[in-house]
Amino acid sequence: MTFQDLNLNTPLYNALGDLGFTTPTPIQAEAFNVVSSGKDMVGIAQTGTGKTFAYMLPILKNLKFSSQENPRVLILVPTRELVVQVVDEIEKLSKYINNRVLGVYGGTNINTQKQAIANGLDILVATPGRFYDLALSRVLQLKSVQKLVIDEVDVMLDLGFRHQLINIFDILPEKRQNIMFSATMTRDVDILINEFFKSPERVSIAVSGTPLENISQQRYNVPNFYTKVNLLHALLSDKDTYNKVLIFVAYKKMADKLFAQLDEKFHDELCLIHSNKTQNYRLRSIEQFRDGENRILIATDVMARGLDIDNVSHVINFDTPDYPENYMHRIGRTGRAERKGEALVFSTKKDADAIARIETLMHMTIPLMPIPEDVTISTELIEEERPIIKERNNPNKRRDDDAPGPAFHEKSEKNAKENLGGSYKFKIAAKYKKPKTKGDKNYNKRNKNFKK
Ligand code: AMP
Repeated sequence: MTFQDLNLNTPLYNALGDLGFTTPTPIQAEAFNVVSSGKDMVGIAQTGTGKTFAYMLPILKNLKFSSQENPRVLILVPTRELVVQVVDEIEKLSKYINNRVLGVYGGTNINTQKQAIANGLDILVATPGRFYDLALSRVLQLKSVQKLVIDEVDVMLDLGFRHQLINIFDILPEKRQNIMFSATMTRDVDILINEFFKSPERVSIAVSGTPLENISQQRYNVPNFYTKVNLLHALLSDKDTYNKVLIFVAYKKMADKLFAQLDEKFHDELCLIHSNKTQNYRLRSIEQFRDGENRILIATDVMARGLDIDNVSHVINFDTPDYPENYMHRIGRTGRAERKGEALVFSTKKDADAIARIETLMHMTIPLMPIPEDVTISTELIEEERPIIKERNNPNKRRDDDAPGPAFHEKSEKNAKENLGGSYKFKIAAKYKKPKTKGDKNYNKRNKNFKK
């Protein structure tokens, strides 16, 4: 495939020609038609795969010249470095296009940025915090935003930008295309997507399902968190075999929980990285693990992405990744440079589907190991493992029924006001102990839904 197959236009071809690019990268080829179609999309791609052009090529192809002043494309990225980098890439691609691109981020003079916005722009690249401040100041008008790109969603959520993003969704026009990119599918990314977007199309570059030959894999069926901890204690006690161990967990709360459990016995050998730790703390942890000063490193998927560490003897998947791609990324941290590596995965009953997906991708079954006899099987459950208690009078109600539907945050002021009527009626009903209307109109409707 060449760029000619994408039916771009002359200004874009000229810019690509100047850059010396002739062939789209896989994510560019995959994403082009989806972005062009106007559908919501989630692209799974890491930095360095050409993901910036993957969304910019179709956006620029379809962005008509306009002299109006408000931005039509908004690109949110987690760091100021990325703002600079993305602006730079867009400018390279826009060399022969008459458009206005602006990058804004915090820690710099907001008044200079307000001035630049007042001069008019087409594409705004921003970090979420500064973007929100500018929007609140009313200098930045959002009514023309048609496309929202969120780059590095996983990092964004890991840095704690979730609420900031939700606030931003609220002030953007409802009718817009959402384009998201994430290097890893994390639990947080999944939650955000399910809550706010209508089944976006997923685009990813096929991850090789062939694990390196020098990685041997094993699986342990473990009933719960505390038994996993007991098993880890037993395995890690063999210091000669388990001499450089990278332990993966899905999210930072779990990382802290596990750290607390291992700290007493392995205090001097243990370190941790996740995004709530300061940059210095993270760098120190990585250095100590790399040098061999610490034998065990606990890491989340997002944080471990850029890790480049040799001689990892074991990768332990303390939990089973939902997405097989994450499993492949994790185990690829061992067995590097043709050295032997071991990958272990702890799975519970509810991980059966996830294990099946991983095994299907690899076309192999991960050998199942018996739990050593001296490992105590715990019956104690942590909060996340306890069954969800169902509401007493409503056995059919699921927990997420309480969550606001996708439209909740997107409602216009006008609609929001209409809803006040309903809540007012309920208040009146509560006050007078019986409904104001004849019968409860919604009663049948509700029950009909629940019967499904
Ligand atoms: P990104 O993943 O967007 O950070 O891009 C990584 C690098 O690849 C950037 O320096 C791009 O300029 C470059 N790049 C993007 N698309 C292509 C392509 N089709 N061929 C060669 N290099 C590319």
